[in-house]
Amino acid sequence: MPDPSKPVLKLSGIGKSFGATRVLHDVDFDLRAGEVHVLAGENGAGKSTLIKILAGIHHDYDGMIELHGSAVRFVSPAAASRHGVAVIHQELSLVESMSIADNLQLGREAARGAGWWLNRRTSMGRAVAACRELGLNLSEADLARPAGEFPVAVKHQIEIAKALTGDVRVLLLDEPTSALHHGEVERLFRLIGCLKTRGVGVIYISHKMDEIYRIADRITVLRDGRRIGCGDRTTCPPATLVQWMIGRELSHHNRSRSVGSASAPVALTVTDLRVPHRDPRRPDLVRGVSFTVRAGEVVGLAGLQGCGASELLRALFGEAGGVTGTMGLGGDPYRPSSPREAIARGLALLTADRKATGLVPTISVERNITLAALPRFSRGGFLQRSVERGAARRQAAALGVRCASLAQSISSLSGGNQQKALLARWRETGPRVLLLDEPTRGVDIGAKHEIYERIREWVAPGMAVLMASTEMSELLALCDRVLVLHRGELAAEFASEGVTAEKILIAAMGEQPQSDPPFA
Ligand code: ADP
Ligand code: MG
Repeated sequence: MPDPSKPVLKLSGIGKSFGATRVLHDVDFDLRAGEVHVLAGENGAGKSTLIKILAGIHHDYDGMIELHGSAVRFVSPAAASRHGVAVIHQELSLVESMSIADNLQLGREAARGAGWWLNRRTSMGRAVAACRELGLNLSEADLARPAGEFPVAVKHQIEIAKALTGDVRVLLLDEPTSALHHGEVERLFRLIGCLKTRGVGVIYISHKMDEIYRIADRITVLRDGRRIGCGDRTTCPPATLVQWMIGRELSHHNRSRSVGSASAPVALTVTDLRVPHRDPRRPDLVRGVSFTVRAGEVVGLAGLQGCGASELLRALFGEAGGVTGTMGLGGDPYRPSSPREAIARGLALLTADRKATGLVPTISVERNITLAALPRFSRGGFLQRSVERGAARRQAAALGVRCASLAQSISSLSGGNQQKALLARWRETGPRVLLLDEPTRGVDIGAKHEIYERIREWVAPGMAVLMASTEMSELLALCDRVLVLHRGELAAEFASEGVTAEKILIAAMGEQPQSDPPFA
């Protein structure tokens, strides 16, 4: 019998670097049998990295991991699995074309190593047993159907069933509910409750306040790769947690704002905007949001991942389907059906993922800059190269894009310079309303501040900016007003005077900013 007072899992002094960047510093963490230990922290705090070390995905770390009192070092996910450590990553890993029963069998093979023969009858029997044990109501006929035919929530549970096919002692869940709706979350929580009674230790990554306080026994907070604090749920109220997560210094951030004035004309109006999920069974991504942005104003859209800010920007840019509600530009009705139309009406969108949707890596810096404004450089169907080149040179200089030549391919530039080139592209279209989605993600600190300065310069003569960001310091540094979204709804609005990172984060987590902490 293992001693219940001893932790199942103990991490001491864990450190991890990616190249020259240290992302975990001397982290201690422990997990007891039958407890849910929540790992919380802002985006980029290092939560997933810590989980990936435990799951055998990253092996080059410093420090020690002990499992049941013995030092272990997992060299692969299979090794972690053989030791009873199961992990559910955010991205599901079922083979869509294979039946559920075979998927479950794959999990077992991974746990035992190669050489386990795939036998249909035993596979089916085991699958039924595994599902029943987890309270999953699936018949043999269901289990024979391809995994791809099931909704995400069921796949998620199968994923857990798969992870639990071996003798699991430790279950790692990385933000498991981001793709689930309310009823599905309840099922997941019941499942976790059932695992607890079996003595499984659960590490649960989340930044959703309501969830954390429902299921956590203990909570550990990481910030910038460091363990900031650890407490029992009952002695660690939300206010403490939020303070741990963002640090005190941020609330008194030095802000130098743009000059958006309450008397400036309205540039953009949005009334009762709804953006449906592509899957009609899922809740709307944006739910009845209304606001305005004035000329010369920088308005921030704050919220945690999945809050709907990106979808809102895409809807404004004519990239979302099924949008309802009304929009207006400078007092005229606006209902874009494509980005082309949005650009023609004076909008620009810098997307969050420059690799997937913005940058054209194979072409030159110059053409990446002029791409969205190309029609302007044509006369009688011919591209006027000298005009194009001149425009690119001007924009590159204005934004401080550093490169040897504008003819070099953009993929050879640093992240910061790539982002400046993309901003230059949208600046060249002369937008009235500039939409920014995480404008400085993956950008070094120097380039970040140059980008902030340019944005402030641009709004002065009357451009309007709507910027989605999960970075508190960025919102506080740039915005005249901050709108906070929580699960697609407008949860709070703050003027720049008196707004703090704490207030934004608490609203983003769906808590009432003024309410007293329930556990104080
Ligand atoms: P969290 O899960 O708390 O949001 P992560 O553990 O994913 O944070 O990331 C922590 C830091 O490590 C971030 O700055 C992230 O950019 C960086 N990072 C994560 N994975 C990698 C990787 N494979 N290569 C380089 N940097 C990474
Ligand atoms: Mg993560």
